Amino acid sequence: MDTMKWYERQLRVPGIDQTFMQKLSSMCIEPAGGDIEELTADLLIRTGVHRLSRQSRPAFVHSMIESNPFLEISDGPGILINRSSIEDIARVTVKGNSIHLLIPHDAIVDDAPVLAALTLNAITTDEEQEIDLGTTRLVESSFSFDSGPRLMVIGAGGLGCPALTSIVSASSSKIVVVDHDTVSVTDLHRQTLYRPGDIGKKKADVAKTRLEESYPDAQVESFASLFNESLIDAFRPDILLFAVDSMATRRAINAICLDRGLSFVDAAVNNMYGYGLVHVAGTACYECVLGKSGTHSESKKGILALTSYYGGLLMARLTSALFNKDPYVKNRVFAFNLADFSFDTFEVERYENCGACGRLQ
Ligand SMILES: [Zn+2]
Repeated sequence: MDTMKWYERQLRVPGIDQTFMQKLSSMCIEPAGGDIEELTADLLIRTGVHRLSRQSRPAFVHSMIESNPFLEISDGPGILINRSSIEDIARVTVKGNSIHLLIPHDAIVDDAPVLAALTLNAITTDEEQEIDLGTTRLVESSFSFDSGPRLMVIGAGGLGCPALTSIVSASSSKIVVVDHDTVSVTDLHRQTLYRPGDIGKKKADVAKTRLEESYPDAQVESFASLFNESLIDAFRPDILLFAVDSMATRRAINAICLDRGLSFVDAAVNNMYGYGLVHVAGTACYECVLGKSGTHSESKKGILALTSYYGGLLMARLTSALFNKDPYVKNRVFAFNLADFSFDTFEVERYENCGACGRLQ
């Protein structure tokens, strides 16, 4: 398989050039067990680390080799990931060719993309890095879906894969996945539910199968076709998740949600940054916040796996907060940048002349 094609999309990210990819591909990684350690290692492997220590947990070794044809079992200097029982700051130290990521005792699985970004930053700068993970969590309310909402996830790509995995792992939500696209080689580095053997298959169907393999109680339906309004009548979702590529599609679904008084969660990512927002009836809509201009498609962007993973986890958190009626998430945009580690929320207002919701005022 062609490594250039595999990493094509992320080579468009500033700072991720072939010299850097060559450096990463020579590194060996050793996650010392545990879900956070393994997800952080997974995201670094998806970015271009090509060797995995034989000390790693066998199931993890097996699953990563199955999902990345460039990965080999190797020993030697590289990236060691483990967890401290006392530290409360995440720290990456650099000694020659050895990188050590120390994860604080109170880290959660959702911190993995930030931990992977911090490690990349240490490799790029050759300098020690540290961060308080508390400053990187944009949604603080508890992550739960007690009475199992009905969710419609539109798009099973870079955002949809982690959002689905996170929600299914934590709940018995009834989910329908809508995606007309098929898996291609350039999707694999960041669309975490797919493996090389899935190329050419419908994403919605593979996503359903993979989620059911990992979570036997999952209640997932798939619709391997373009989104259309009749799906809303058939499935009656409580919340829609816009995990799609195009702004035109988002605007179209925004208008349908406004007409029907439906709630949604939207997110988008590019390079190493992105945003998330929620809408409930009467609050700012997609067009109030993002306007009407632009038809930019994700297919033209460079994206790292850790960026879309952060965006997907943010969508899952916002969906839980919206479902649990957390007032904090209304009329607010949640923005992140994993290049400079900025994590901010902005209040937004409904725009009275909004082309989409203005007529409803
Ligand atoms: Zn609006």
